[in-house]
Amino acid sequence: MGARRKFSPEHCKKISAALKKRHQENPEEHRRIGLVQRGKIVSQETREKLSKAHMGNKHSPESKEKIRVASLGRKRSPESIERSAAAHRGSKRTPETRKKMRLSHLGKKLPLETRKKMSQSRLGMSPSPETREKISQAQLGSKSSNWKGGITPENDRLRDSLESREWRRQVYGRDWYTCQACGLQGVGINAHHIKPWHAFPELRYEIDNGITLCKKCHKIFPGTDPDTSLVMGVVMVIKLQLMLLNWNRRMKQT
Ligand SMILES: [Zn+2]
Repeated sequence: MGARRKFSPEHCKKISAALKKRHQENPEEHRRIGLVQRGKIVSQETREKLSKAHMGNKHSPESKEKIRVASLGRKRSPESIERSAAAHRGSKRTPETRKKMRLSHLGKKLPLETRKKMSQSRLGMSPSPETREKISQAQLGSKSSNWKGGITPENDRLRDSLESREWRRQVYGRDWYTCQACGLQGVGINAHHIKPWHAFPELRYEIDNGITLCKKCHKIFPGTDPDTSLVMGVVMVIKLQLMLLNWNRRMKQT
């Protein structure tokens, strides 16, 4: 700092008295003027000039660290969050940035509370069919965490396709997730192809060609038998059993 101008003692007193008075009369204004003089408050015009002058400048690592420390623990207003979200919306992160983010998050667990919040906010949402197809595609074959190097036969792969899973879900739903042979609920169930998978490729995804069976009952009907008449016989037995079951239930109710 350069040499300070010297005022006479009387003048100093005058200045100090004037400042005191200003502070007593209007403390808010006094504070504001102080901030203006220290360069903390600037006009809109000046702000724009400063912003232009700084455009394209990058913060040094030290300054970045300072900014980070200063903002630690500071809560941002919802408006401010929305503003920065709007500024980033639609912009895509570069592969490098994504890799950095992935690495920095690796092995970190979110607190239980955060996880609960996330799950709450997603409650009742289910991905659209397109999203499900995307997820399915992204996890197919070698991209799967269960990939064993292409040893799965074509058949198994087809049986695990999205279409198959959808077929199974619909068969289960129609049968109330209940074994249609023994009427057990809440046990492990299978969706059984009435006309076998191998022999009737055109019926693979027909809901009417499916029936929900518990694992025990499913063992009784091996699905590989191409003999339709036998399979149809089995279906007849199942249907008869079912009728008997329902009839028994009705008898109990009355
Ligand atoms: Zn059963």
